[in-house]
Amino acid sequence: MFSYGIPQKCEKCGYDIPLSQYTLKTRLCDKCIEKIKKEKEEFQKILSLDNLVINIIPIYGDESTSSIENGIRTIEYNYNHPKYELIHELGHFLLSEKTQYSYFVLQPPSNCNEEIFLYSNSIIDCFIDFNNLKIEDNHLYYIKYVKSILSGMNNIPKQATLSEIMQGFLKFFISFNYLIKNEDKEKLQEKLKMALEELKRFSIDQSIIMYPKDQRLNQKIFQNLEVKLSSFEDIKDTSNYQTITKFIYHVLRTMPFISEILLGDQIDLIFPLKNQEFLSSSFLL
Ligand SMILES: [Zn+2]
Ligand SMILES: [Zn+2]
Repeated sequence: MFSYGIPQKCEKCGYDIPLSQYTLKTRLCDKCIEKIKKEKEEFQKILSLDNLVINIIPIYGDESTSSIENGIRTIEYNYNHPKYELIHELGHFLLSEKTQYSYFVLQPPSNCNEEIFLYSNSIIDCFIDFNNLKIEDNHLYYIKYVKSILSGMNNIPKQATLSEIMQGFLKFFISFNYLIKNEDKEKLQEKLKMALEELKRFSIDQSIIMYPKDQRLNQKIFQNLEVKLSSFEDIKDTSNYQTITKFIYHVLRTMPFISEILLGDQIDLIFPLKNQEFLSSSFLL
């Protein structure tokens, strides 16, 4: 992968970097890493999170993520993606502080159902974005981020999976209806409507290929799903983590290809009750 003796170049400024510093995750020089750290600190201040120690690793591939491991908070931010992604990852810590519930940042338990985890995460993301967007300045970054994704939604790649597209639908139905500013919504109205219709059409078609008749999506199920999602408006500012996890449960209950028992078990696993969190941490001592 690396050619010895030839210096590697910083992906942002083109400056030579010694091979020893060119890591598997980052392809930036010290100066550019420092710049991203500064930006993170600025956004952290804006979100009133400057009392927390949050490490940042700029990465060149993969999705941005946030995590808490052994009490250490870390964001891996893909510096090739829009700035809002960095603000969003910080927002995971903001929601976790607001609700006093660390499972809105934690990585999933290894034995959980990945699909249910990812759907849950898309919904949590909406609560995060709501809180982030209480700060006026963040709207500018947010709408740029939405626009950058919008074109992909109107032109879904063939290899996309049902799960990916449904995650997108959950997130952007709420985004378009309850998060984007009215003035932006008016400007983008046609495109937004078309994008959601496209996500729906793709998901229904995929579910017909993948599932038996009684587990498929259809327009009626989407209507039901939209009704459930619309109660976001009433609870979006909650600081009660259970209000959020219950909302997730009720939204996902409308999906006919997820069984009720599996869903209940998985929600309990991914979002344990707070007193269970205490129990398990005292066992660790
Ligand atoms: Zn550089
Ligand atoms: Zn997120």
